[in-house]
Amino acid sequence: MNAIDELLQGYGRFRAGYYPQKQELFDRLSREGQSPRVAMVACCDSRVDPAIILDCSPGEMFVIRNVANLVPPYEQAGTYHGTSAALEFAVLDLQVEHVVIMGHAYCGGIRSLITTEPAPGRQREFIGPWMDIARDACKVAFDRARADAAHPARECEQAGVRASLDNLRTFPWVRDREAEGRLQLHGWYFDLDQGELLALDAETDRFEVIEAPIPESLERHAL
Ligand SMILES: [Zn+2]
Repeated sequence: MNAIDELLQGYGRFRAGYYPQKQELFDRLSREGQSPRVAMVACCDSRVDPAIILDCSPGEMFVIRNVANLVPPYEQAGTYHGTSAALEFAVLDLQVEHVVIMGHAYCGGIRSLITTEPAPGRQREFIGPWMDIARDACKVAFDRARADAAHPARECEQAGVRASLDNLRTFPWVRDREAEGRLQLHGWYFDLDQGELLALDAETDRFEVIEAPIPESLERHAL
């Protein structure tokens, strides 16, 4: 079966199952518009779909996906700022309460910064300049990781999340809302090997595994 036909099989399941089950929700979202409380910056990587990892319903999360889940610094130059425009809409118009940057293991964008071997994105026309956002932070993390014999790629992927959080705080309307307690910023990391989410601890500056709450349906089973 060709790839589009496979997708359309999925669309058939959505039409027959998901959509009618969620009809009321879709009706309400059509009528009232969206009002997500969380904006998520995630990577384009096909393995790390935030809505699947977090089992979200439509309307729950405003998702911005780009190469290596990066946030550029605040810039006023009149060029094409896709990620900044989406963040502006999420923060100023939707007035989300949280912005989450979600990095992940085996990120090809980050790998292009730290390997001399052929990697997706190396020597590409647009990816290289885009990845400059995380280049310095990755270099520092890579050198430190090599000295400590830790896993360099993971250190660099997590450094990219920290750099994006720093850049988020260069946007005046993010900085102001965070200071007023109206907006919280989070750094997360999805570990593909374990299927685990980690969160950046602001005090230790380390990523720690998030304890997954037991789903209510399973809790009832256990009782
Ligand atoms: Zn990635």
